[in-house]
Amino acid sequence: MKLRFAPSPTGFLHVGGARTAIFNLLHARRHGGQMLLRIEDTDVERSRQHHAEQIVSSLQWLGIDWDEGPLYQSDRLDLYRQRAEELVTAGKAYRCYCTVEELEADRSAAEVAGKPYKYSGKCRVLAESGTASITDGAHVIRMKVSPGPIDFHDLIRGDVHFEGELIDDFVLLRSDGYPTYHLSVVVDDIDMAITHVARGDDHLSNTPKHILLFRAFERESPVFAHLPLILGPDKKRLSKRTGATSAEEYRDLGIVPQALVNFLTLLGWSPGGDRELFTTTEAADWFDLSDVNKAPAIFDQEKLLWMNGQYLARMSADEIYPHLVPFLGDRVRSLDELRAIIEMTKVRGRTLAEVADAMQPFLIEDEAITYDAEASKKHLKGEDLKLRLEELRDALGAAEPFDVATTEQVLRTLAESRGLGAGKLIHPLRLALTGRGASPPIFDVVVALGREKTIARLNRLIATFAG
Ligand code: GLU
Repeated sequence: MKLRFAPSPTGFLHVGGARTAIFNLLHARRHGGQMLLRIEDTDVERSRQHHAEQIVSSLQWLGIDWDEGPLYQSDRLDLYRQRAEELVTAGKAYRCYCTVEELEADRSAAEVAGKPYKYSGKCRVLAESGTASITDGAHVIRMKVSPGPIDFHDLIRGDVHFEGELIDDFVLLRSDGYPTYHLSVVVDDIDMAITHVARGDDHLSNTPKHILLFRAFERESPVFAHLPLILGPDKKRLSKRTGATSAEEYRDLGIVPQALVNFLTLLGWSPGGDRELFTTTEAADWFDLSDVNKAPAIFDQEKLLWMNGQYLARMSADEIYPHLVPFLGDRVRSLDELRAIIEMTKVRGRTLAEVADAMQPFLIEDEAITYDAEASKKHLKGEDLKLRLEELRDALGAAEPFDVATTEQVLRTLAESRGLGAGKLIHPLRLALTGRGASPPIFDVVVALGREKTIARLNRLIATFAG
């Protein structure tokens, strides 16, 4: 069994493309097959090498590990020309010399008559009658399509039927010698021994053409599986209007690849039960293309954020660190310096960006702490505030050892001895240390900052009160 993911490098890796890649990989892994990566870059107008590189690096980021490739179709142009010529020689395709103007005129005439446009077949008649007089000059190569049913069984859509009658003599090779998508995809699927083609639903109408080509090359068609569309929350095709659409954008928002892959795997498939969090390795034990739902899947960004939060909470600091580095900018430190801080803050955000934000108080200089206005208004009050903070500073200064249990004990003893609720000390302490109204558990914060910074930050807040 061999599957392939065959992106066209005309932009970033779309999340729909990423899901196609994942489903191909999972099916291959489930059945002990191979997965090939093929870059379909024969559309010279729209293909860009840097897009191909971005797609490859997004796939690597996602952890999609193909077995062969990337192979580039642009390296294989001679093969496509050769195969098109073979079909001409075998009488299964023909040269068409009709000019763009002629074709346009036919198209407008069809439009005026309210009929669907179909190539007139002029050059086919000439070719078949052997009276074709022109043998050189600009031409395309067209497939000779015969009427008759084209039936196939799709793993997802079930039995699919098309009428050859309705299919045009489609172009295989353009006048500039470049293949059309139909030719290159079938030549490659044959040459690369692809057994299963899983691709977006938008290709369904291309499939009968491909089946005709497999027949013309006297090869068996691969098994097809057309994946349902991914819709936005507005039930329209996923687009920029309703959120990010590329894997890169989600990376930049602070989604970890494991969470994105898990989320995308659930778009149109489910392992059964209410199981939602699983690894690719687990999914590869359960997945089968024939279990994919044919109804469109809805991309719920809120759910992705939730899932990412679940992943962050379950991942170790060591696993999170490499993904977090870009979000820390010039405040980045070594993993050893950050391990405890990551452990403390990883549950405090749904994205890496939010975790990096929660880490800020631990990474900035004492002088850079600014006090949240709302939290200050709520917690920095009372005539005795300054005294409270000074006593707390002195008590913590003497805490021995400087660990979570002891610093907590010290604070609670002080509160009790002054007849105060512990909150009267904890909230101002949190503001002094982080500038914020919310933080990881306060004594974890105290210990992570250490005695010196705790004292310095308390002093800094105390200094803001005159007198
Ligand atoms: N290159 C096509 C695309 O990006 C996919 C072709 C295929 O999978 O057959 O839409």
